[in-house]
Amino acid sequence: MLETRDLYVTYPGGARAVDGVNLRVGPGEIVALIGESGCGKSTLARALVGLVKPTSGQVLHQGAPLDPKRMKEHRRKVQLVLQDPGGALNPRQTVFDAVAEGPRLHGLSHDVAGSLAKAGLRPPEEYFRRYPHELSGGQQQRVVIAGALALNPSVIVADEPVASLDASVRGEILKLLLGLRDELGLSALVVSHDLGLAWNIADRVAVMYLGRIVETGTVEEVLLRPRHPYTKALLSVLPSSPERIVLSGEPPDPTRVPGGCRFHPRCPIRVDGCAVHDLPVLPADDSVACLEVVQ
Ligand code: ADP
Ligand code: MG
Repeated sequence: MLETRDLYVTYPGGARAVDGVNLRVGPGEIVALIGESGCGKSTLARALVGLVKPTSGQVLHQGAPLDPKRMKEHRRKVQLVLQDPGGALNPRQTVFDAVAEGPRLHGLSHDVAGSLAKAGLRPPEEYFRRYPHELSGGQQQRVVIAGALALNPSVIVADEPVASLDASVRGEILKLLLGLRDELGLSALVVSHDLGLAWNIADRVAVMYLGRIVETGTVEEVLLRPRHPYTKALLSVLPSSPERIVLSGEPPDPTRVPGGCRFHPRCPIRVDGCAVHDLPVLPADDSVACLEVVQ
């Protein structure tokens, strides 16, 4: 449904924000993209929806490379949902107008009531005349999602969709995305800095470090049998973890990506070879550990 091939985004200042990413979101699949702040998740998300131009490599939608001439269609089919719904909504626009705006801009008919209902705002008519400040954060995010659904997308790219919400409503929004997958067959890439979130929502997980996907697999593979030491460190900060792995070294700087395995300066199990050998994305097969690759 959505794919990147060898995607690079380097900013003018030299930050290699996305540094050779191969990622696939299949039909009806929810993929969680997880990594710490600054690792390039938002840049990748924006490249996927066509808001950031790749330095090289490709974005494909349903197998076809993103064509600049068909960018408007791409932006309709691949909808971006952001972290802060309060910022995404115009304070002077009613819920009805907010949801109708996308279809209007695209010259399409709209079904505002249907979109609000799909986003769990029922009965929808009760929300038509309301303004963002009259809604809770969770309701605002549902309005944003309804606005995305009004364009009948095939994929949603949700960048930290629950990070600005109260803990009590995060689960509801994640459940909504799951429901959209189950009922509408919608695919989604859900971006988060919290690996724990993947449990609740994802079919597959991709772990990103310093511009690169370092490990990918099913939720069970990645969360129960992590192979990359970075994934293990991310898991160790979850409340359920018996011990915490504290990473040494400086926080990563995308303007100075280390040679060899890019994680090696902070890696608790590094050996000499790690500074020399680049590490491929670890396959979803627990027979290969990273040290076997470099030795
Ligand atoms: P994340 O969403 O994982 O926090 P971002 O994609 O926002 O990561 O940022 C990745 C890296 O790219 C960071 O080092 C950030 O400072 C840099 N960056 C992001 N946006 C820009 C920009 N517009 N110009 C220059 N550097 C940027
Ligand atoms: Mg971000």
